[in-house]
Amino acid sequence: MVSVDFELRKKVMDAHIKDTLKYCYQCARCTDVCPVSKVTDGRYDPRQIILNSFLGLKEAIFNQESNFNLWGCTICDTCDEVCPQKIGLTEVFAVLRNMSITMEEGPEYYTSQASTIYDSGKAIPMQTAIERRRDQLGLPKIEPPNIEEVQKILNETNLNKILKK
Ligand code: SF4
Ligand code: SF4
Repeated sequence: MVSVDFELRKKVMDAHIKDTLKYCYQCARCTDVCPVSKVTDGRYDPRQIILNSFLGLKEAIFNQESNFNLWGCTICDTCDEVCPQKIGLTEVFAVLRNMSITMEEGPEYYTSQASTIYDSGKAIPMQTAIERRRDQLGLPKIEPPNIEEVQKILNETNLNKILKK
């Protein structure tokens, strides 16, 4: 049986700008234009995620089998542009993803990328081959990031605790 999680519902509503979530009338324009929904034959369905969030159906959102529902969005913002009620779907998805990460349910590719940024200060660390090629092309040297500063900022977001650094 599916249960309603009022705390989840409140968290999403509180975090969502101007509480507009409740004005969704399930017209499905978001799903119609969503490129991820198209290539997955509707397996990914933003309209359904919005409905589940509004109803507080935690088990339908945070569930390993349906993890794709939470992480499939590419944040292209097309749904936000067409939604007649200006719901701001991607903001809701960001709130849900943050909750998923806090529950340690985030996908491995996501946490490993975050870990790389934490360790090197960059999403793609510099490599000797890239530096050599830049030299050959006469491009200027790239200054290394101040990793301590990057980590200080990330620690403020508690990312170090999530990544167990
Ligand atoms: S387009 Fe907007 S109003 Fe329509 S179902 Fe999607 S979120 Fe709801
Ligand atoms: S932002 Fe996400 S849900 Fe919205 S259209 Fe793009 S991929 Fe689909």
